[in-house]
Amino acid sequence: MSDFRRRHLLAVLAGVSVLGMGSGGALAAPSKRRPKSMAKPTPAVPMAKPKLIFLDPGHGGRDPGALGGRGTQEKTVVLAIARDLQRELLAGNRYRVLLSRNTDSYVPLRERVARAQAARADLFLSLHADAHGDHDVRGASVYTLSEEATDREAAALAARENRAGAVISGMRLSEQPDNVAQTLVAMSQRGTVNDSRRLADTVVATFARNGVRLLPRTHRQAGFAVLTSPEIPAALVELGYLSNPQDEKLLTVRQHQMALARALRASVDAYFGTGATRKA
Ligand SMILES: [Zn+2]
Repeated sequence: MSDFRRRHLLAVLAGVSVLGMGSGGALAAPSKRRPKSMAKPTPAVPMAKPKLIFLDPGHGGRDPGALGGRGTQEKTVVLAIARDLQRELLAGNRYRVLLSRNTDSYVPLRERVARAQAARADLFLSLHADAHGDHDVRGASVYTLSEEATDREAAALAARENRAGAVISGMRLSEQPDNVAQTLVAMSQRGTVNDSRRLADTVVATFARNGVRLLPRTHRQAGFAVLTSPEIPAALVELGYLSNPQDEKLLTVRQHQMALARALRASVDAYFGTGATRKA
């Protein structure tokens, strides 16, 4: 076993126990021993309650998000990939899936968080595509919540994503996360901070394994309003740069969209420790 695989396996194993503590005992108990008189065979694998995955395609409606040189809109690309990922996740009958939006409509950031919380989601994945002044910059990156941004670019990105909703007429600046510090305290008490980091690292590792081009220092942190559910491990994935011509083209190609969805599904599998035999 290579060092990478061992570390990955350990991370997955460690995560299972952390998850059990963080999810309020919602993990299904192993099946109890069955009385001998019952001849009915038990299923080979005990059926756990399907995890609820909350997918959040960014932007929508009057908020197009980032724009590519050929006119590609972030809101369209991320919705297509979120739908692909929904299909991927549902195909194995092991997950339930909710989308923050399933149409080209705008949902305020706080409402996205509130919906995931109301549904008691087990995982929150926000899908985005970025833009950069330097058109050579390309590759995917993954973000988790932090009060202090890891670097200026991450801080600027979080400010952009948080502001996106506020530019829409009638929206107030209330989208700004004023409660990141508070949320982080609640998250660390519940183990959600560690779970979110593990989720982000799992996405990065799975992307790398599946040949998805990555931004250097792929896992970064900043104060994203949409990642502020205290109970739900959450990450925001920037799937590439629409400002880069190659990334823009790839993000509109159906084959590539589906490949990204498969890699994200494999990440979710790996996060829950259920993907050992499934490849993306
Ligand atoms: Zn975005």
